[in-house]
Amino acid sequence: MNYDVIVIGSGPGGYVTAIRASQLGLKTAIIERESLGGICLNWGCIPTKALLKSAQVFEYLNHSKEYGISADNIKADFGAVIKRSRDVADGMSKGIQFLMKKNKIDVIMGTATVKAGKKVEVKAADGKVSIVEGNILLLQQGLVLVCYQTYHKMVKKLLVTVKL
Ligand SMILES: Cc1cc2nc3c(=O)[nH]c(=O)nc-3n(C[C@H](O)[C@H](O)[C@H](O)COP(=O)(O)OP(=O)(O)OC[C@H]3O[C@@H](n4cnc5c(N)ncnc54)[C@H](O)[C@@H]3O)c2cc1C
Repeated sequence: MNYDVIVIGSGPGGYVTAIRASQLGLKTAIIERESLGGICLNWGCIPTKALLKSAQVFEYLNHSKEYGISADNIKADFGAVIKRSRDVADGMSKGIQFLMKKNKIDVIMGTATVKAGKKVEVKAADGKVSIVEGNILLLQQGLVLVCYQTYHKMVKKLLVTVKL
């Protein structure tokens, strides 16, 4: 399949880029290996704020008398708190799915590897491999964790390069 734009990664960086590209009339695909919405919607910003909201409600209830309200037997059900957080995150991820459809963006689920000649290889969860081609390739893969030693080597290499 050929696209004008291929975006790798569907976090806030990726899905917004894909929507804009499509709005500009470019045939766009987005590739995601885990869940639409990236770290932010699925594991970062959104679910953590949902947990914080539960903590805030608990705190309010424990101080309800200060607000002129009486509440007894206040207990936190951690299972229910986690479930709410996951439900909020899942709802947001479904929202991104809807946005992709609405903006006529092809969603390709799988791990992308950039290949020569404007090609991207996509390996799906079931091991199936496909190739897509795009004129513009946008990498929106978010944070990459590197161990200190690798980071140290990278910085050293960079410094050597700058020195030369
Ligand atoms: C616990 C936590 C709480 C946070 N809270 C906040 C907050 O309150 N406010 C805030 O502004 N920021 C917050 N952040 C930071 C925020 O999550 C990131 O800044 C944001 O997610 C970055 O967006 P992104 O699109 O660059 O990348 P990401 O959201 O990381 O998305 C990258 C996507 O690319 C996919 N991907 C990577 N490689 C490939 C590949 N080869 N093939 C296919 N897909 C690939 C990944 O699966 C992922 O879905 C928080 C982060 C964490 C961890």
